[in-house]
Amino acid sequence: MASTLPETYRAYCTQWEAQIHAFIEMKETAPDGAFPLVPPGDLQGKGLAGLPFAVKDNIAVQGFSLSCGSKLLEALRSPYTATAVQKLEAAGAWVLGKTNLDEFGMGSSTDNSAIQQTNNPWDTSRVAGGSSGGSAAAVAAGIVPFALGSDTGGSVRQPASFCGVVGLKPSYGAISRYGLVAYASSLESIGILADTTARCRSVFAAIRGKDPLDQTSQDAPPGAAPLYGQDLSGSPKVIGVLSADAIAKALAAVAAGIEGSSGTKETAAQAASLEQDVQQGFDVAKTRLTALGHRLVEVEIPSLKYGVPAYYTIATAEASANLARFDGVRYGRRPLQAENPEDLIDKTREAGFGPEVKLRILLGTFVLRSGFQNRYYLRAQRIRMGIRRSFEELLGSAEYSRSETPRCDAILMPVFPTRAFGRGDAGETLSPFAQKAADLYTCCANLAGLPALAFPVSLAGGLPVGVQLLGRAFSEATLLDLVEAYEQAHPFPHPAAYQAFWP
Ligand code: GLN
Repeated sequence: MASTLPETYRAYCTQWEAQIHAFIEMKETAPDGAFPLVPPGDLQGKGLAGLPFAVKDNIAVQGFSLSCGSKLLEALRSPYTATAVQKLEAAGAWVLGKTNLDEFGMGSSTDNSAIQQTNNPWDTSRVAGGSSGGSAAAVAAGIVPFALGSDTGGSVRQPASFCGVVGLKPSYGAISRYGLVAYASSLESIGILADTTARCRSVFAAIRGKDPLDQTSQDAPPGAAPLYGQDLSGSPKVIGVLSADAIAKALAAVAAGIEGSSGTKETAAQAASLEQDVQQGFDVAKTRLTALGHRLVEVEIPSLKYGVPAYYTIATAEASANLARFDGVRYGRRPLQAENPEDLIDKTREAGFGPEVKLRILLGTFVLRSGFQNRYYLRAQRIRMGIRRSFEELLGSAEYSRSETPRCDAILMPVFPTRAFGRGDAGETLSPFAQKAADLYTCCANLAGLPALAFPVSLAGGLPVGVQLLGRAFSEATLLDLVEAYEQAHPFPHPAAYQAFWP
């Protein structure tokens, strides 16, 4: 049974959507009993009953679109539902709609969507970030209290930071990927975008855990801190600070540059250096965490400077394999006429994939070609292991009992070097090269398989700035405790037209 959405809520959604275009598809009806809203309790995901949520359009929900932001799949309706969504539905939450994304999750702005452009609720001339930009914008605008996204190299945390909401990338395997259309399987997770840390915790509690349909999924190990029974009184923690300075110095030594459109050379070091407002936001976070009683210590991870090349080598290699299934035979749009099977595949992919997707498939095929794996792919895997080991030395590891004495309970890092950027005319855009180089701060959590929680710390020029805390594998509870205590002292801001519909 279903009933129409209450008029005030529907009008609110329509008004926001006309400006931000976060949704690819939005339902007109709610399940019976969803309204009026009852204040949810806060325990074990039970507090989700009656709440609408949004789902990135690369995560399957039966009967809904599963476009992945691509022309190729624009007309596809999903015949099944992802495990994470099923668990939320079992907890009483319901899907309001599917949100926009960079095609197959490839990008940092959501402008790589072949379907539509999503705008940032704080300033509609700017991007919402990506690739889960639609989900982040929908939460920031108050259309939904939480949304699902996917994070392969930062795609939950970066748009969360651009839109001023909470963004959790869980430990690798903590949430089932069944029903997530694969981009780079060894790096990615379904992640959570939420209006508050407490909400993020409820959602995570509801959707985590081993799923027989995803062999890489697992329950938290017995030694992991419990998600509830948290200590928000602020028992002091040791927080490692990975400063942008240390990383920038290391980057400057890497001769990775590219000719920009203006004829000047863009370098990775320039692209990864924090703009002043983001640096200030990072400093605010440090001051406040210290004031909350935590001990901050400077840490370094020298191999981090190779994180972006390693990430793009591995991500594109996996993408070239994962996207091979889109051949026009099994899914999506196919040409009206083809001479033979190869011609069918060629024409499907030529017309169906956008330029960024084609670029990445080509790059992935290049790094994997016969005789060259050692030069690119295997070298990237070695860097990945090095980065992972460095984090384990700092944090300890939930997986290996030989674990060294951990020095830090969490590591504080920037999320992205800039606030939400514009689209060219305003001059404040970012080149595709700079967008990739700027993934440095987010992609290491994916390379190392660690959980990371992004949260807003300040506003500058009317735009949110976020930071992130990384933890050892399956230490989501520690990160959520730290950020929830932070939020109690420094509540998160909302855009001017925001209205709170959710208890
Ligand atoms: N910006 C990164 C990329 O383009 C991250 C994408 C993601 O996490 N899905 O690959």
